[in-house]
Amino acid sequence: MQRATIDFGIDLGTTNSAVAVLNGVTPEIIKNNQDADVTPSIVGIDRRGAVRVGGDARDLSASDPDNAYGEFKRQMGANYRYTFKRSGQTRAPEELSAEVLKELRGNVQQRLGETIDAAVITVPAAFELHQCDATRKAAELAGFSQSPLLQEPVAAALAYGFQAEGDKAYWLVYDFGGGTFDAAVIKAEEGTIRVVNHGGDNFLGGSDFDWALITNLIAPRLSKEHSLADFTRDNLKWRTAFTLLKRSVERAKIRLSREDSVWIDECRFQGNNGETVEPDYELTRSALISAAGPIIRRSAEICLRVLEEKRLAPSAIERVILVGGPTLAPYFRDQIGNLLGIRLDHSVDPLTVVAKGAADFAGTQR
Ligand code: ADP
Ligand code: MG
Repeated sequence: MQRATIDFGIDLGTTNSAVAVLNGVTPEIIKNNQDADVTPSIVGIDRRGAVRVGGDARDLSASDPDNAYGEFKRQMGANYRYTFKRSGQTRAPEELSAEVLKELRGNVQQRLGETIDAAVITVPAAFELHQCDATRKAAELAGFSQSPLLQEPVAAALAYGFQAEGDKAYWLVYDFGGGTFDAAVIKAEEGTIRVVNHGGDNFLGGSDFDWALITNLIAPRLSKEHSLADFTRDNLKWRTAFTLLKRSVERAKIRLSREDSVWIDECRFQGNNGETVEPDYELTRSALISAAGPIIRRSAEICLRVLEEKRLAPSAIERVILVGGPTLAPYFRDQIGNLLGIRLDHSVDPLTVVAKGAADFAGTQR
């Protein structure tokens, strides 16, 4: 299909990535081969040097942690190399990001039969020039000849229909991801959406819920019941055990967004004497809410600081839009709504809103 505008938008996320296309005036998410809206930003390289991206690579990372990596977005623009032990290969963060971009482009090819060489790619408001350059480099390595960058909060606001003309109001874009938190105040000015102020914490996100449950509840119990004296997260001996626990607890946490209580499943590892350890524990939503409280409060404090720095009272903010997987949980919305005292809007799916906004913007780019 011949296109006059770019039309494709990509959210290249720390934890998950997504691609959307503008279909007429409506952005639509393009699903991956597993039929999911988002693809884990994880890249693995196997013994033969074959590259795996997404869910496949995540499966590899549990059994084979030296051969699959995620969260490389944190290192974009830094002089950092990832070593894949089995194949002996090394990769820079932008090369791993390029693999994710290629994967998303492959999904477009598979679903729409279209080979694309241009897409709008989103970056955090906090990205500095060298990080943006690394993102452009990743796009180039992935074979994109054109890749305008767009700030994530601006993309989210576009997906919510924030108009560059007209809307005089301030909005707060609250983006709580897997491992990073970003808050941005935006406003329409002279025909463009501008980030007035932003703040965040690079080590605050959905993962903290999982780890809080593990270190406060599950690890002490396992350690006691199976006499695992040295059972701590930073002990290399237990690396696989903690990786498996983290994944099981994350799945349980996600189920707790719908259910009041769930069981931890699919987690099995060897104890000190070779015996099988299999946590068979129930997790309740109320335990999760207690664990989540202090973490959500930290994000609220950052929001209030971001407002205060611009001498904006919460009452000056027309609405807060919620972005990021953890904001899907009803208890999360209740807590953050109470803490901020600003009207919340979560009418667009928080896992795909950034990609959709990027596609909206792409529709304006020739
Ligand atoms: P990022 O912007 O860092 O790529 P995402 O917005 O994709 O991150 O969020 C990933 C986080 O969202 C993970 O911690 C995951 O456990 C969490 N998450 C995803 N879906 C849900 C859900 N339904 N309920 C609670 N947490 C969820
Ligand atoms: Mg994100």
